[in-house]
Formats: sequence, C-alpha cells, structure tokens
Amino acid sequence: MKPFHYERASTVEEACSMSTESEESCFLAGGTTLIDLLKLNVMRPAKVVDVRNVDMDTVDLLEDGGILIGANVRNSDLAWHQKVRRDYQALSEALLSGASPQLRNMATVAGNVMQRARCPYFRDNYSPCNKRSPGSGCAALGGYARSHAVLGTSEHCIATHPSDMCVALAAFEAKVRVEGLAGTRDIPFSDFHLLPGDRPDREHAIDPGELITGVVLPPNVEGASSVYLKSRDRASYEFALASAAVSFALVEGRIAAARIALGGVATKPWRAFEAENCLEGNEPSSELYEEAAALAMEGAITQPDNAYKVPLARGLIVRALAIARERVEAQV
Ligand code: SF4
Repeated sequence: MKPFHYERASTVEEACSMSTESEESCFLAGGTTLIDLLKLNVMRPAKVVDVRNVDMDTVDLLEDGGILIGANVRNSDLAWHQKVRRDYQALSEALLSGASPQLRNMATVAGNVMQRARCPYFRDNYSPCNKRSPGSGCAALGGYARSHAVLGTSEHCIATHPSDMCVALAAFEAKVRVEGLAGTRDIPFSDFHLLPGDRPDREHAIDPGELITGVVLPPNVEGASSVYLKSRDRASYEFALASAAVSFALVEGRIAAARIALGGVATKPWRAFEAENCLEGNEPSSELYEEAAALAMEGAITQPDNAYKVPLARGLIVRALAIARERVEAQV
C-alpha cells in the first residue's frame, strides 16, 4: 500500500479545501470500498480526507414532498427510514438486497454512489486494465466476462456498475448534490455516472475538490408503486447478475408514468427510456411488458460468457412490471 497523508474535516468547507490542496486526494466515509482498494494498491491517493465528522447524516423532508438524504446516512438507516419504505419502496428493497448487514451498517449513501467498477481484473494489479491504468488494455475483453456489462460498453471497458441503490435512485430521478469551493450544484442522476467511452478511468461527473453532500429525491408520482428485483448467484451478499427497479402509476386504467432502471447489465445505472415510452399511455398487459423489456435490452453487446444476461434482464423487467401493477392495484 502506498503511504498517504490523512486529514479529518469537520465541515464541508474544510473538507473541500483540504481536498483541493492535493490533486491526488479522495474522501473517506464508511470506507467499505476505499480501504479494500488502498490495501490492494489499486487506489493510490496522496491524501485521504476523512469526512465522517461532517454533519450530513439526516434524511430531511422537503417542501415539495421529496427528501434530501445526507451523504453520510448509512445504507441500513436509509433502507428502514419510514418515508423511504412507504414512498420509495424500490429504494428500500434495493438497499436491503445489497452487500451484507454489516456492510450496510457502515456504508454511506455517498460512498455507494461513488462505488468503483465491479471487475476482477480492475482489482488485480497484474492484469491490463484501462480503468486502473489508462492505455494498458482490457483483460475482460477476451477474458472471463460472466459478470460484465452488455449495455453502455466500449472497446476499452465492459465493467459492470456494482450498485443496487443507484439503480433505484436512477428510477426515481434523483439528483446528486455536490459542494465545492465554487458553490453547490445538483447533478441529475442519469448524468452523474459516465459511460466508459475511451476514458474508462473517468467514472463520475464530479470535479476535483467537490464533495457529495446529499442526494435529492423528488416526490414520487402520486399513486405510483415501485419494486426492485435482483437476480444473483446466491441469496445474499452477492452482486446482481441483472436487476430492475420499476416505478409505475395507473390513471383510468392506463399507465401514466413508468420508470425503469437496470443494474448488473450496464456500465452505469441504466435508465431504459425507450421502454418507458413504450409503456406510457397504454393499458398494461403481459404483451406490452414483453415489448418494453425487449426495447430495454435492444442494442446489448454480449461476450461469450454473458449473453445469458439479455433474457435474464428481460424476464426481470416483465416480472417487476407485473409486481408494480399488483402493488398499485392493492393501494386502491
Ligand atoms: Fe479494466 Fe474495465 Fe477491462 Fe475490467 S472491463 S479490465 S475495469 S478496462
């Protein structure tokens, strides 16, 4: 492990200023990913700024009916928050399907948003990896790629985004609030995570010295229900092979608002906009769900090991839509 300088901040301003003093700095909160990557020598910051004492660990109700989730809120606290369980059920389900209870008790919301890619070659310093070492190549292309992405990939990287929570946040059209010495800005969730393109080492639309201070969730569509479904190799403490977060509302028997986001199949939390458009304004039916699911996975580029993800994700989307409809009808 490369030695680094450690500092502890007690305010956002202090954290941003400490961070900008070094180009190679990073923030520490729960540490559930960062500590692993430091020990593996995959992340090699010159400075680590500890933000655990910065006051941003509450969930606040907003005037418009939405919520502001503090960056340091623990994943388990958010999953069991009363309003989240009632109004953003898919978010609660996604959080509880991620990692293990011990990790959820440590991991923070901002840390989850900033999770690094899921790829064994990324964590192995002996393998070529454009994300860890730009220009070195990609060992997953032509290598073992069973867990890798089929959507949003490039010829330089096919790593899957690992988060469950982020999939639900994408479906609820969250915004990531970041603060820096230049001020505060809210980044729409679909713009926050970057596609790998020819710069897989760049993963987030955040500038050096900016700190995530919270996540803003708009009010959920009135009458909508949501669900998160995840397929994985074992029942707990396992990443998604494919997952779907669906939010769904009905007005006079027709789908008024549909939101679909996918996990486990893409290089970033993936909004299926064309599938949503296909659903909206139509009467719900199994055939319509199948059509939407096919659109969601259109354009998938598979490797020999991961072609199974396309039918798997399609099946999950169809099931999630059916469950969301049942939940909507149970409310009436
Ligand atoms: Fe690295 Fe991405 Fe290739 Fe994995 S898929 S080896 S993270 S470049």
